[in-house]
Amino acid sequence: MNVDILTLFPDMFAPLSMSMIGRAQQKGLLHVNVVNIRDYSTEKRSRTDDAPFGGGPGMLMMAQPIFDCLEALDGAHKKLIYMSPRGRVIDRAVLEDLVREEDLLILCGHYEGVDQRVLDAWDFTELSIGDYVLTGGELPAMVLVDAAARLIPGVLSSREGALGESVYSGLLEYPQYTQPRDFRGRKVPEVLLSGDHGKVDAWRLEQALRITKEKRPALFEEYVKNREGLDKDTDKLIEYNIVRKSE
Ligand code: SAM
Repeated sequence: MNVDILTLFPDMFAPLSMSMIGRAQQKGLLHVNVVNIRDYSTEKRSRTDDAPFGGGPGMLMMAQPIFDCLEALDGAHKKLIYMSPRGRVIDRAVLEDLVREEDLLILCGHYEGVDQRVLDAWDFTELSIGDYVLTGGELPAMVLVDAAARLIPGVLSSREGALGESVYSGLLEYPQYTQPRDFRGRKVPEVLLSGDHGKVDAWRLEQALRITKEKRPALFEEYVKNREGLDKDTDKLIEYNIVRKSE
C-alpha cells in the first residue's frame, strides 16, 4: 500500500519509520511518502494559511498549496482521506476498506482546518479518530496508518494475527503473563503453566468474556447476539457470563 501524507509538519512523522510500521516499510509492504505542503506555496515566504472570511478565531489552511500538491501527486487517481473531527470515526470496517486501496493520500489539517473549497473540489472521505479535537491531523494520520498497516497481510506474523486482538475478535483480550512465574508474590495463574492447551483456551475465553462484560457491556451484548454457530462449550461459557454478577 502506498500512502502519501500531506502536512505542514513533516518532522512529526518520525515514528512511522520505527518498530512494526518501520519494518513493514523495509519489507516493501507499505510505502509512506511524507510531503510538505509548504513546498507548494506560491505566496511570499511560503505562506500557507490566512484568516477566515467572515471572522472568527484562528487561521485556515489556504486552498492553493493543497491544490497544487494534490495535482502534483496525481490525487485524482488516489483514495483521498482528510483527517477531521467531522468525519466518520475509524473502526475495523473502515480500515478493512482502506487496506484494499493501492494508493492512499491523507491530508492533515492544522489551525482551524482547511479552506472548504479543497474538500468541495476533491473527492475526500473525512475520517476522525474520536469525538475530541486535536491540534492537527498529524497524530490522527499516524493512528490511521498504524491501524491500517496491521491489517496488511504479512505485516504481522500469523502468530500475532491481527483479528484475534481486542475488539476485532468481538471480545476484549484476556490477561497475559510472562517470566517470572512469581513476581513479588504475584503468581501466574496455574492453568497457564499446566501445558493443557484445551484448559488454557477455555480459561482465556472465560476471562475475555468476563472482562468484556465488565468494561464494554455493549460489545459483550453484540457478541452474545451473534453467537450462533459457536461450539457448545463456548455457548455454555457465554451463558455463565450472562447470568454472573460482576466480581
Ligand atoms: N475547527 C475544526 C473543527 O471544529 O472541526 C477543528 C480544527 S483542529 C484544531 C485542526 C486539525 O486537526 C483538523 O483540521 C484535523 O485535520 C485535525 N483533527 C483534530 N481532531 C481530529 C480528530 N478527532 N480526528 C481526526 N483529525 C482531527
